[in-house]
Amino acid sequence: MLSIDQIFPLLSQPRNVVITTHQKPDGDAMGSSLGLYHFLKQFGHTVTVISPTNWASFLNWMPDSKLVLDYEAQTDKANAAIDNADWIFCLDFNTLIRTKRMEEKLTNSNAVRILIDHHQEPQVDKFTYGDSNTSKSSTCEMVYDFIVNSGNEDKINEQVAECLYAGVMTDTGSFRFPSTSANVHRMVAVLKDKGLQHSKVHEELFDNFLENKFKFIGNVLLHRMEIFYEYNTALIAVPQSDLIKYNIKTGDTEGLVNYPLSIQGIRLAAIIIDRGDERKCSFRSKGEFDVNLFARKYFNGGGHINAAGGQSSEPLDAVVAKFKTAMIENKNQLSNYQF
Ligand code: 5GP
Ligand code: MN
Repeated sequence: MLSIDQIFPLLSQPRNVVITTHQKPDGDAMGSSLGLYHFLKQFGHTVTVISPTNWASFLNWMPDSKLVLDYEAQTDKANAAIDNADWIFCLDFNTLIRTKRMEEKLTNSNAVRILIDHHQEPQVDKFTYGDSNTSKSSTCEMVYDFIVNSGNEDKINEQVAECLYAGVMTDTGSFRFPSTSANVHRMVAVLKDKGLQHSKVHEELFDNFLENKFKFIGNVLLHRMEIFYEYNTALIAVPQSDLIKYNIKTGDTEGLVNYPLSIQGIRLAAIIIDRGDERKCSFRSKGEFDVNLFARKYFNGGGHINAAGGQSSEPLDAVVAKFKTAMIENKNQLSNYQF
C-alpha cells in the first residue's frame, strides 16, 4: 500500500469515483463518506457513495444522504457504479469482509482501491494507496487531514464541515475518549471558521429519537443487564423478541453498550443482540483492557482497544455462555484494576 500523498497531484483530473464504507454505517462511516463526497465533487469528479446495507434514520439529515446507494436495495445501480469506477475509496473499515455482500464485487473490481481508516490490522495488500492510522480519533479526522494535506483547505464548505464534525464527534463520544487529541480540537476550530453550526448537528443526532426507543432502553436496563462486580464487567443480552416488541430499527441500539460503563467500577461492557440472522456483539472498555484483542479471539471481530465488535452464528444462549467463559479466562486483567 502506497502513501495516500501520492494521489494529491491526481485529484484535479476528473474521474469516476466510488466511496464506500462498512455495513450498517455509523456517524463516522457516513460522515467521512459524505464529507469526502462533498469535497471531491468540487473537482468535477463523478462521485457515488455506496453503503453495503441500510443505515440508521438519524443520519438522514446529512447533506445528500438521499443520494447514497444501499447495496442490498439498489444492487444493480451500485454494481454499475463500481464497474465504471476509476477509484474506490474505502472509509472506516480495513477488511473487505466488513462490506458484507459487496466484498466479492470490490475484490474483483479493476478500480484503484484507496484506504482511509483508523482500525487495527489493515488488509494492506487489498489497497493501492492508503492512510491507516490507529492513533486517529475517527475516519472523519483522517479525511480532514487528507483535504488539508493535499492543499485544499479552501474546499471545506459548510456541507463538508457538517459531515466531518458528525463523525469526529460521535467517534470520540462527544470529545471525551482518550483519542480526542489537540489536533481534533484544532480541526473543530477550523470547521467552525468554515461555517459549522455544531448545535444543529448535535440536535439532529441526539434529539431525534422516537418514544419506542426509550421504552426499549428502559426494558433493557431493567431486565436484560447483568453485572459481574468481581470482574468489573457488565453484560446486556437482547433477545430478538425485544426488537420486535419495541419495533426496533437499524441504529436504535447504537450507544446502548455505553450505559453500563457509567456504573462505578465497571471496566468492560458488552452487549449481545440477537438480530435473527446473526448474534451481533459490541464491547467497550475503560483503561487497559483491550477489547479489540478480546473480540478477535472470541467473537470473530475486531475494532479498537476500547471499542470493538464481533458476531456469531450460534444461538443467543450459547454466545452469552461463551462471553461468561471468556470473562472468567480474563479474570486477571479484569479484576486487578487500581481505582
Ligand atoms: P460497534 O460496537 O459500535 O459496532 O463497533 C465498535 C468498533 O468495532 C467499530 O470501530 C467497528 O468498526 C468495530 N467492529 C464492530 N463490529 C466488528 C466486526 O464484526 N469485525 C471487526 N473487525 N470490527 C468490528
Ligand atoms: Mn470510525
